[in-house]
Amino acid sequence: MYRSHSCGELRASHVSQEVTLAGWVQKSRDKGFMIWVDLRDRYGITQLIFDEERTPADVFEKAKTLGREFVIQVTGQVIEREAKNTKIPTGDIEILVKKLTILNASLLPPFTIEDDTDGGEDIRMKYRYLDIRRNPVKNSLMFRHKVTMEVRNYLSKQDFIEVETPYLIKSTPEGARDFVVPSRMNEGEFYALPQSPQTFKQLLMVGGMDKYFQIVKCFRDEDLRADRQPEFTQIDCEMAFVEQEDILTVFEGLTRHLLKEIKGIDIEKFPRMSFDEAMKKYGNDKPDIRFGMEFGELNEVAQHKDFSVFNSAELVVGIAIPDAASYTRKEIDKLIDWVKRPQIGALGMVYVKCNEDGTYKSSVDKFYDQDDLAKWAEKTGAKSGDLICVLSGKTNKVRAQLSALRMEMAERLGLRNPEEFAPLWVVDFPLLELDEETGHYHAMHHPFTSPKPGQLELLDSKPGEVKANAYDLVLNGNEIGGGSIRIHDKKVQATMFKHLGFTDEEAKAQFGFLMDAFQYGAPPHGGLAFGLDRLVAILGGQETIRDFIAFPKNNSGRDVMIDAPAPIDSEQLKELNIKLDI
Ligand code: ASP
Repeated sequence: MYRSHSCGELRASHVSQEVTLAGWVQKSRDKGFMIWVDLRDRYGITQLIFDEERTPADVFEKAKTLGREFVIQVTGQVIEREAKNTKIPTGDIEILVKKLTILNASLLPPFTIEDDTDGGEDIRMKYRYLDIRRNPVKNSLMFRHKVTMEVRNYLSKQDFIEVETPYLIKSTPEGARDFVVPSRMNEGEFYALPQSPQTFKQLLMVGGMDKYFQIVKCFRDEDLRADRQPEFTQIDCEMAFVEQEDILTVFEGLTRHLLKEIKGIDIEKFPRMSFDEAMKKYGNDKPDIRFGMEFGELNEVAQHKDFSVFNSAELVVGIAIPDAASYTRKEIDKLIDWVKRPQIGALGMVYVKCNEDGTYKSSVDKFYDQDDLAKWAEKTGAKSGDLICVLSGKTNKVRAQLSALRMEMAERLGLRNPEEFAPLWVVDFPLLELDEETGHYHAMHHPFTSPKPGQLELLDSKPGEVKANAYDLVLNGNEIGGGSIRIHDKKVQATMFKHLGFTDEEAKAQFGFLMDAFQYGAPPHGGLAFGLDRLVAILGGQETIRDFIAFPKNNSGRDVMIDAPAPIDSEQLKELNIKLDI
C-alpha cells in the first residue's frame, strides 16, 4: 500500500493517527532545524514537518535533499498545527514524518507548478503533463469528467445506448476536409477519419437501435481559426420514430439537466427563434441573448433623403449602445476604425448621439432632422444617453459586420457574464446555402437533412427559400449543438444529391450504402450532436476549449509535446506504396 490517505483528506479529527502519504513536493522550506514540505497529489496539499529533535537523523538529512516535484512517500503522525492555515482544507494539521522514501527525483520543472504559473502557453503545452499537475488544468479535466458522466447518466436513464462506430471509414460530408489514412492491405486506397459518425448513426436507426448516443472523437481538417481543434469530441445522438419536436424536448431536457446539476441553475423553457428572425434581430444564427442591443432596420426611415450612401444600400441597420452618447469624438473615431478593420470590413459608420435633453446629434445632420433621428431611435430602441451606430450595404455582409460590433461592445461593456446562461433553439434553417464564389448551392447542415414537409417542390424553382427540419442549440452566443430530421426515403435522398450537384454515379459511389439501406425499411429518424469541448468550456465559464482538453493541438494542428505530425521513414512509405512529391 503506497498510501493510507490522500493529500487532501486529513483533518483535526485524524490527529495522533499514523498515516502514509505519497505525492509530489510542491515546495520545501528549510529553516535549518526545521523543514516544512508541502506534499501535493490530485486531492490537495498536506504539510509535512521534519524536526531536528523529533525526526530520525537520517530522515532529516534526506529531507534536505528534496527538490520541487520529487515524488516521495512518507509515514508519520498527524499532529495539530501551531499556525493553522485556513486557506486549505488540511490546514489544521501537519505530518510529523518518521519515514521518508524518495520514489523518484525530478528535474527542476521548466515553469512553476502553481495556479499562477510563470510558464507561457508554448512551454506549458510542451510539458503538458506538468501543466496537468496545476489546479486550473486539473480542475478543468475533472469538470469535464463530471459533465460527461451527467450526460451518460441522463441519456442512459432515457433508454439511450452508447454504441461505438468505426474511425476508419470513408468521407462524411460535414463540409470540412477529411483526414485520410492509407491502407496497407488495399493498395492505393485510403480510409477517411469521420468528420462525424453521421452516416453510421443513421444506419443504426435502420438497424432498429432507436435511441443512440456516443461520446465520440470527430476529425476535420480545416484551418484552425479561432479556438478549433482538428480532433474534437461530440455528444452524438440519434433517435428513430421522432419529429423535430421530440428531439428538441429530449435534448432541451439534457441541457436543462446539465445546467441544474453542474451550475445549479433552473431554466424553464428555452426560447425558440427562427433562423430568419435571428438574422434580422442579431445578424447572426447563434445570437447571444444575454443582452439586448437588437438590430433596428432603418431602410424605411433613412432612405429617400439626400444621403446617397444609404439610398444605394440594400440594408441600413443600427444598434443602440447603452450609455455611450458621452463618447468623445476620439472614442467614436476609434470605433469607426474598428468596424473598418479588414476583419470586419465596413466602409464606414454613421452615428447618432441621443442626448440626455432629448435632442440628437449625428454625423449626418446635414441630411436628417431631429424628427428623422427620433425615428431611428425608436427603431433601434435607443434611450437618451445611448449611441446609435448605423451600418449599411449588402444585407448579409452588413448584418455580419453589425453583429461583430454588437458582440464587441457587449464585451467592452461587460455584458457577457460567463456565469449567466441564456440558451435558445434556432429553428427553420434554410436547407441550402449559396456559395457566393462558385454560385453553387450546398447543404447548410448536411445532405441528409430533410426539407420541411411540402417544400421539396420548391427545390427546383426557389432552392434558396426551402426551409429544413434543422435546428441549433445556442448558448451564450455559441452554437453548442445542431441537428436535423433526416431524409429516410431513397428517392428524396437521390433528389437531394442531384440538387447538390452530385451525379448519380458520384452519389452512388459515396453514399450508395446509405441509399441501399433506405430500401430495407428505414424508419423516420433524426438527431443532433453537441460539441462537448465547447459545452464544457462554456459551463466552466472559460473562453477556450483548449483548457478542457488534456492534450490539445496548437493553431497549426501540432502536438508540440510528442512533436506530431512527423515524417515517417522510407520503409513505412514503401509498404504503403506512397511516394512523396514535395
Ligand atoms: N453530424 C452533425 C454534425 O456533426 C450533427 C447531426 O446532424 O446530428 O454537425
